[in-house]
Amino acid sequence: MILVTGGAGYIGSHMVWLLLEKGYEVVVIDNLEKGHKKAVLGGKFYNGDLKDREFLDRVFSENEISAVIHFAASSLVGESVQNPLKYYYNNVYGTLNLVDAMIKHNVKKIVFSSTAAVYGEPENIPILETDKTQPTNPYGETKLAIEKMLKWMDNAYGLKFVSLRYFNVAGAHPDGIIGEDHNPETHLIPIVLQAALGIRDKVIVYGNDYSTKDGTCIRDYIHVLDLCDAHLKALEYLEKYNVSDIFNLGNGMGFSVMEVIEKASEIVGKKIPYEIGPRRAGDPSVLVASSKKAQKVLGWQQQYNSLDVIISTAWRWHSLHPEGYSGKQD
Ligand code: UDP
Repeated sequence: MILVTGGAGYIGSHMVWLLLEKGYEVVVIDNLEKGHKKAVLGGKFYNGDLKDREFLDRVFSENEISAVIHFAASSLVGESVQNPLKYYYNNVYGTLNLVDAMIKHNVKKIVFSSTAAVYGEPENIPILETDKTQPTNPYGETKLAIEKMLKWMDNAYGLKFVSLRYFNVAGAHPDGIIGEDHNPETHLIPIVLQAALGIRDKVIVYGNDYSTKDGTCIRDYIHVLDLCDAHLKALEYLEKYNVSDIFNLGNGMGFSVMEVIEKASEIVGKKIPYEIGPRRAGDPSVLVASSKKAQKVLGWQQQYNSLDVIISTAWRWHSLHPEGYSGKQD
């Protein structure tokens, strides 16, 4: 059985779907602070919090868990700057509790959801796993602290981990059955699609004076199902080789904010209103990953890596469920 923490969230729910599709038995933990129960398409569901140690003991005692995929975390960069305590408490302390329970219950494999934010302002493009890690916000700092913690847990207790550093995750299940629904929404692609639906007036482009081809920031967008497939490969890697490692997950291709808006206009078939605003604090101009290591070592191959497919699948979800999960029928 695979335990998925944060399985009711955007990425976690796609992971649960993929695991079930591949025939795995799944246990899901989510405190539903940000997650949606309707997004969990199967498996055994527990509503609870990683900070609750007794709750974790119960989950591990009641199920034959062989490995954990750990998504549950607070993940808003801006909020992490305003409220770092929440981030250290939920992310670092929550994971510490989880790892403690794993060790006590003799579960020694974890796939960890890390982030490109561990790099901070990049030294080189594309970013390699060996590049300097210097987070510029508490969110990235807590994820890096967890990676370091996992290394020492491996050293002392033989807990093996694969840490996956995500770049910009986007897109949705191609059937439109699950997708991205955050409140507040801060990510570019859902914001652009909400503007297309008239749910918001316009997109504010955060700065067009960066030193990029059109002046807007460049990001590496990766489809959520490609990302989940990498988690499956990471699980298999842990099963087969029983060694810890760290991988970047991106497309290796960068797209500017304006390119995203233009591609989305093409897909939805109408002009999407936007306005140029000031820069957003802490935004690096270019973030593009090298995912060569994941391809080579994990044998990972992206299937949905065109911007077209990423935005089209997201559009299917948003146009079918303009109110997200609150408007979704069971
Ligand atoms: N962005 C923007 N307007 C928005 C939201 C995002 O111009 O309303 C830009 C943002 O500055 C960044 C890119 O879109 O360059 C992707 O931002 P997002 O928040 O989706 O992901 P991040 O790169 O911060 O993880």
